[in-house]
Amino acid sequence: MIEQLREAVCGLHAELVRYNLVAWTAGNVSGRVPGEDLFVIKPSGVSYDDLTPASMVVCDLEGNVVDGAHAPSSDTAAHAYVYRHMPEVGGVVHTHSTYASAWAARGESIPCVLTAMADEFGGEIPIGPFALIGGDDIGKGIVKVLSGHRSPAVLMQNHGVFTIGASAKAAVKAAVMCEDVARTVHVSRQLGEPLPIRQDDVDRLYDRYQNVYGQRSSR
Ligand SMILES: [Zn+2]
Repeated sequence: MIEQLREAVCGLHAELVRYNLVAWTAGNVSGRVPGEDLFVIKPSGVSYDDLTPASMVVCDLEGNVVDGAHAPSSDTAAHAYVYRHMPEVGGVVHTHSTYASAWAARGESIPCVLTAMADEFGGEIPIGPFALIGGDDIGKGIVKVLSGHRSPAVLMQNHGVFTIGASAKAAVKAAVMCEDVARTVHVSRQLGEPLPIRQDDVDRLYDRYQNVYGQRSSR
């Protein structure tokens, strides 16, 4: 089980590169080991080209290394805090993707002005507090904003994006979609004021996308 997750989490890091969400060694993906108080996360400071399943680090939910030759990502405390407080979460992703981080730098949530946003995020993508790396402050901010929120993404002020999902893959998808809509809404803003979508239409779009759309067996 852990070996499979090492492979999956390692492979998902390539998606961050493929979608142009990360520079140098910034960004990280983690996945919770199903049924265990453990998660697999990227090692700290290793370049994306050099990541291997064996270099992934297994941590407990306090962020202590259980298995791995490398130090875990410097964002491990934030991932651990999320897993401790949101048991439904199976994956966490962090990036400094350009457009989403530009919204974060302004401390502004992304308004729901695209049907794709209503589908994926169920409304706006919220802004979280300014928090310094190291302790539990980032994790606390993520959990406070995303608990009970439809959005799987939060823009941490002056920092970047954290996303959650039922799996590491779902959290990566949320990070990709977050950057995509952040870019489009930004471009729209340059042309004028984007039109909001009525709340009942947002609700209908979200419900349809989450419950009806796509191949249900693959969700
Ligand atoms: Zn960061």
